[in-house]
Amino acid sequence: MNIQADSQRVWNTSECHAHMVLDGVDFRVALARHERAPEENFIRRILAAYRDAGITYVRDGGDTSKTSVRARELAPEYGIEYRTPIFAIHKNGFYGKIVGKSFDTLREYRQLIEEIKKAGGDFVKVMLGGILDFDVYPQINGGGLSAEWMREMVHIAHEEGFSVMAHVNGAEPICAALEAGIDSLEHGYLQTEESLSLLKETGAVWVPTISPLMNQIGDGRSPDNVLERYGAAQMDIVLRAMQLGVKLAPGSDAGAYLVPHVTGYQDELRWMLAAAGEEKERMIGVLERGAREIAERFRRM
Ligand SMILES: [Zn+2]
Repeated sequence: MNIQADSQRVWNTSECHAHMVLDGVDFRVALARHERAPEENFIRRILAAYRDAGITYVRDGGDTSKTSVRARELAPEYGIEYRTPIFAIHKNGFYGKIVGKSFDTLREYRQLIEEIKKAGGDFVKVMLGGILDFDVYPQINGGGLSAEWMREMVHIAHEEGFSVMAHVNGAEPICAALEAGIDSLEHGYLQTEESLSLLKETGAVWVPTISPLMNQIGDGRSPDNVLERYGAAQMDIVLRAMQLGVKLAPGSDAGAYLVPHVTGYQDELRWMLAAAGEEKERMIGVLERGAREIAERFRRM
C-alpha cells in the first residue's frame, strides 16, 4: 500500500477518539499509573506532543481515574480544546470495564448521568456493543445489549442535554444504536448496506478507528490474517460510506494497544486515506467536515 507520501502531513487536527489514561503499550501499567491520582507530568508530556504535532482538538472516550478531566484542565495551556465524558458507561455483564463505570438498573444509570453532570462532563459515552475478537473473524465478544436498553440509555442522556458517543460493533447492534439516536458511532466494525444507509439517514458521525487493528499486523499477538480481514473489510466499508455521503471523522482510539497518542492519530489519517484510494481529496474534505461536527455536537448544550 503506497501511503508513505502522506505520512508526514497532518491535514486534520482533530483526534476524535482518544484515551489519555492509556498509553498504547500496556493497559494494566497505564491504568496503575493514574490510579491514585492523575499523573500530571505524563499528561503534560502527551498534551505537548499533540500540540507539537499541530493537533488542536481531542475528544476523550473516558476513564475511571479522572485522568481525562485533568487533561481537560491542562489542555488550554497547550492550545488544545479537550472534551471528556468523564467516564464511559456500560451495563454490568457487558464490555466496558477498562474505561468506565457500570449499572444494573435504569435508576443506577440515571445516577451515573447525574454524576457526569456534576463533574462537568461534555457528553455521554456509552458502550452499546461488544469488542472484536482479534483472533477470530468475524466475532464480537461482550455485546448483546437489547434495543430497548439502548433506547432508554440514549434517551436519558439526551434528556439531560448530552450528545451520545457510542461504542458499537456489528450491523445489528449498530442499527439498534442508530435507531436509538446516538450522535456518533465509534468503531462500527462489521457493517452492512443496511446499517450504512441508516447511518446516512440518522446523520450520526462515524469514527471507524482503523489503527487498533492495522497497527497490530506483524506484532504477533493476534493472527495477521484475522487482523487484515477486519482492517480490509473496514476500509472497504469506509469507502462505501464516503460514497453514500455518511459523515466520517478521524479518531484512532489512541491509547489502545500499539496506537500511541499522536502517532496513532497520524496512522489513522493514513488508513482513512488508504481506504479512500483514488478519492483521497474527497476523504480529506469529508473528515474535515466530520471533525467540525464532532467538535460542535460534543459539548454541553
Ligand atoms: Zn474508546
